Amino acid sequence: MFESLQERLGSILNGLTGRGALSEADVSAALREVRRALLEADVALEVVRSFTDKVREKAVGAAVVKSIKPGQMVVKIVHDELVEMLGAEGVAIDLNAPAPVVIMMVGLQGSGKTTTSAKIAKRLSERQSKKILMASLDTRRPAAQEQLRQLGEQVKVATLPIVAGQGPVDIARRAVQAAKLGGHDVVILDTAGRTHIDEPLMVEMADIKKVSSPHEILLVADSLTGQDAVNLAKSFDERVGITGLVLTRMDGDGRGGAALSMRAVTGKPIKLIGTGEKMDGLEEFHPKRIADRILGMGDIVSLVERAAENIDAEQAAAMARKMQSGKFDLNDLAGQLQQMSKMGGMGGIMGMMPGMGKMKDQMAAAGLDDRMFGRQLAIISSMTKAERANPDILKHSRKKRIAAGSGTDAAEINKLLKMHRGMADMMKAMGGKGKGGLMRGMMG
Ligand code: GDP
Repeated sequence: MFESLQERLGSILNGLTGRGALSEADVSAALREVRRALLEADVALEVVRSFTDKVREKAVGAAVVKSIKPGQMVVKIVHDELVEMLGAEGVAIDLNAPAPVVIMMVGLQGSGKTTTSAKIAKRLSERQSKKILMASLDTRRPAAQEQLRQLGEQVKVATLPIVAGQGPVDIARRAVQAAKLGGHDVVILDTAGRTHIDEPLMVEMADIKKVSSPHEILLVADSLTGQDAVNLAKSFDERVGITGLVLTRMDGDGRGGAALSMRAVTGKPIKLIGTGEKMDGLEEFHPKRIADRILGMGDIVSLVERAAENIDAEQAAAMARKMQSGKFDLNDLAGQLQQMSKMGGMGGIMGMMPGMGKMKDQMAAAGLDDRMFGRQLAIISSMTKAERANPDILKHSRKKRIAAGSGTDAAEINKLLKMHRGMADMMKAMGGKGKGGLMRGMMG
């Protein structure tokens, strides 16, 4: 799976990661290569274009983290964008509906519908202890119903008894009825395919949908057909409405274009992938794991993730130094408030700090709680630069202006100022403890 892309992206990005400095031209050159690699992997042009645009945008605006080389940052951005393109989160088959939950399998002939129906039945019965009934609605291909019956036997899942001469819509109705009577949790309807999409097929699918009210309509598509699979998904979705996709023959697909474009083009999740002819050749589709597999640079990605967490710690340490020097103005307080709400609110951050109970009480006494962060920040942002740096100049008329600007009142402004003074004094006092001081221990 994805072997060719893996190789190409690997060598492009490897060329970047070791570099200390990276110019915009370097990034552009690498992105041109990435673009070519994706196109060669048969990823849809529109998807490639939006992918490289987003990576470029993020690479230009990326925060510089001291411990990370620019090339490593680019790898992380490519990785994240890849995950995004694949659909961010894995989406499982949804059985959250009154029993029997109907799963309708649709797709072209030979795409792997019957095989996949049995694989899904096996998985749901073994892993989720579901009682399953499968029914083949393929009355066109003489052996189709018998094929499903045999697979059912193999995976120990019941199949609807075959009644000769019955049409697909009647079989669907009978399957749902039988599942109700038999206490089955799930009914899997394996519909008939054609070699290509035609009108009678779409009409038949719509009729089956009408009588069986499926909760999931899964399109089974052959990943080896690349962009044809993507176009097929689009057409099926427009005509019948699908809830997700199963891409089969991923075991033989070295390029992966269909898998990579599918989500972005159709907006529908790939729920499962077929990875072999055997009954356990079925895997859940996890965008992050797939992206890891394609890039094969998991260590760099986690390195950058850890470093990004450290940015917050670096900012906190800078703040601590400022506090210790006794210079804690309203700009710093605003930064502190923002940081706190980011770190789970006051309760969260104070709870992590030993010896902070007193300050927490003081802030609470001043009427500051998580809900007030926003208003406190509004007050501070309504002040001029000079006022923030030197709150002592805040007299009545200035307060009136700030109250109007922030939608608060003078009493609230006074509360904020009182709290700030209290905090500044306390920090100065703690800063005096020097090297072993409390702030150092907390923020370091
Ligand atoms: P249907 O006409 O859509 O019902 O297709 P079938 O289920 O009969 O599958 C057609 C062929 O594809 C069979 O030989 C299957 O064993 C094979 N097949 C289905 N899924 C996969 C897969 O994920 N990987 C591989 N290698 N073969 C598969």
